[in-house]
Amino acid sequence: MSKQYYTTIGLEVHAELKTASKMWCGCKNDPDAKEPNSHICPVCTAQPGSLPVANKEAVKKVIQVGVAIGGTIPDFTEFDRKNYFYPDIPKGYQISQYKYPLVSGGELAGVKITRVHLEEDTAKSSHGTGASLVDFNRAGVPLMELVTEPVVKDAKMAGAFARELQLLLRTLKVSDANMEQGQMRVEVNISVSEDPNKPQSKYVEVKNIASFKAVEKAIEYEIERQIKMIEDGTPFVKETRGWDDATGTTFSQRKKETAEEYRYFPDPDLPKLYISKIPELNTDLIRSELPELPWQKRARLKALGLKEETVEFLVQDETYGSLFDTITGISNKKAMLVTAANYLTVDIPGLLQKSGGVIPSAELLTELFIMTDEGVLSSRGTKDILAMLVEGTQESPKVLAEKHGLIQKNDPEALRAIVREIVSANPKQVLEWKSGKESILMFFVGQCMKASKGSGNPGLFQELLKEELLK
Ligand code: ZN
Ligand code: MN
Repeated sequence: MSKQYYTTIGLEVHAELKTASKMWCGCKNDPDAKEPNSHICPVCTAQPGSLPVANKEAVKKVIQVGVAIGGTIPDFTEFDRKNYFYPDIPKGYQISQYKYPLVSGGELAGVKITRVHLEEDTAKSSHGTGASLVDFNRAGVPLMELVTEPVVKDAKMAGAFARELQLLLRTLKVSDANMEQGQMRVEVNISVSEDPNKPQSKYVEVKNIASFKAVEKAIEYEIERQIKMIEDGTPFVKETRGWDDATGTTFSQRKKETAEEYRYFPDPDLPKLYISKIPELNTDLIRSELPELPWQKRARLKALGLKEETVEFLVQDETYGSLFDTITGISNKKAMLVTAANYLTVDIPGLLQKSGGVIPSAELLTELFIMTDEGVLSSRGTKDILAMLVEGTQESPKVLAEKHGLIQKNDPEALRAIVREIVSANPKQVLEWKSGKESILMFFVGQCMKASKGSGNPGLFQELLKEELLK
């Protein structure tokens, strides 16, 4: 029986904000511009005498995140200097927030949030042979930092949190939050202890994680490594470790025997902010302007009676999610929407994957699914027309249905004629039915559907067959 260990995990997430200009100057916010040092000025390259001006749009974006996660937006906030030297931080300090973050508290995906603050990104260094180069396009790009409470229980919970945060940032349009491109960077603080009441104070910080999968794998690896250390009696050190995706391991980057001394102090070049004095930053206004949030959308779709995986597909996928919303705007008939959701999440992606094509317009799709819902089209007929629409036809589903004889026949007299024909053509199966083999009914329905070239209503065929077979 193996011993039980307790894991304490907290996350720190940095996200580049999608503003027009940088955090303290008018330079274009384009950190990945091809030409190095093409978006720079005296401010973001830290020339003596240059002065920063805070970007209101960036402040607003962080408040939007804060309001969405139910955090508190204190009225007073200020920017601080975090002093350290590195070639990618030309001022010799990073402007960040220390004592008075823009957002305190809140919750996301079941994880309590400590704070969200606003700071600036660093330049990008690349180390070649014989020389190191610095590209300042990223220097001064607005960066949001979100810190969670140490309440994340395991790798799965951390992964789910990071995915939900990415979805929120994209929904709010505050960041593209692409992890592979470094637009969203997750750092994991993790420690394992034998006593749940005495978590290890010497936690390990894991950096350089560039995907959700890597977040989960790094946590799993680190838990195992730390358990082994406890079992081997190896003393713990507080350290920063990097994640190596190729080997699936973490490696020591630097030991942190003492807390780093950043000597934070309020930046004298920037004014202190009173949010209530800035009309555009009115939190009530920002709250009222929020788009539908992922969890709100989930609840709305669930209320329609959609399956959980269908809901999640529509919440996660921007293209199909907004297509579904447009269809909802054209007709809000619940049964039609359930039909639409199924075809949107299964059939259309399937058709596109199989033979390419285009996603049909919401108008054409709504018309099609209304016909399905009203029984004018069978599911076979719906699929046939859908395939034509995906191939790119702009003709209306109604015209297509008539042209290809797909209008489902609901006329009992016409269908009864087919039923009689099929019953008299299959005497052996009729005997089987009469001897109690109920499953044979579906054979008859199939034959009737075939005879009607898929245009008969299968439900009606069943009813009529039962009548005729009893005779
Ligand atoms: Zn600049
Ligand atoms: Mn930071």
